[in-house]
Amino acid sequence: MLKFISFGSGSSGNCYYLSNGQDAIIIDAGVGIRAVKKNFLKYGINPAKIKAILVTHDHMDHSRTVGALSRLLNVKVYSSAEVLKKLNWARLSRVEPDACVAVDEEETFCVGSMEITPFRLPHDAVDNYGYSVSDQGQVFTVMTDVGKPTDNVSKYIGCSDYLVLEADYDDDMLAANPRYEKKLKERIKGGKGHLSNRQAAQVLLENYHEGLQSVWLCHLSEENNTPELARTTVARFLGDNGISTETDLRLEVLSRRTVSGPWLMSDKGISADHQLKVDFDF
Ligand SMILES: [Zn+2]
Ligand SMILES: [Zn+2]
Repeated sequence: MLKFISFGSGSSGNCYYLSNGQDAIIIDAGVGIRAVKKNFLKYGINPAKIKAILVTHDHMDHSRTVGALSRLLNVKVYSSAEVLKKLNWARLSRVEPDACVAVDEEETFCVGSMEITPFRLPHDAVDNYGYSVSDQGQVFTVMTDVGKPTDNVSKYIGCSDYLVLEADYDDDMLAANPRYEKKLKERIKGGKGHLSNRQAAQVLLENYHEGLQSVWLCHLSEENNTPELARTTVARFLGDNGISTETDLRLEVLSRRTVSGPWLMSDKGISADHQLKVDFDF
């Protein structure tokens, strides 16, 4: 059984928690330490079960507090060598040298019984990894800050049961946003920027398979998207092409600044079991 919680998703801070009951990992540490500690308590998370922090890339919203969290939990930080080198920009982000574990793309490593494969995604950071976590036959994959659909996007959706996928912006909202200069709009839309709702829908359609049970849309822009728009754009596009988000695939949207979940995934399926918020054994 896997348990997933998002402590925040978007340019103001990303942090995800994934546990198999025995061991747990954190993916990205871009939210405040005080909020993380409060949520550990609120959601019955035993910090001693957290065995690793994985970092997707060096942008502040993913790495702001990674050093501080690694020191607090006394765990190692896994990412690409380039990203680890870049985490020196502040005291809170700086990871102790002996806590850094550089991992290569497509090289599977283990944290407890979880087998984790990093894979490269295009983005304008020094490097950017997605992570695919396999545990007892269940595969949970996180893809955030994805400049454009690539072979890796297809490959790792193709083998996932559960997927966290970026849906950063709505094309029309971004185009009409008077506060964003042309250059910034081009950066976001470019091949090293972010995935739009429409692109997320397209890659889901192209790579949908029956094993894919649930998709969480992540990293929604505050200015250029809304949770409703992301959900309806993706659900409608899939629905028009014969994939129902009622019966074929569960679709969720992660909240930007508040906690989403927890969700529990077992061989019986997935449930949003809020009673398990207080469960000091997970
Ligand atoms: Zn980001
Ligand atoms: Zn980024």
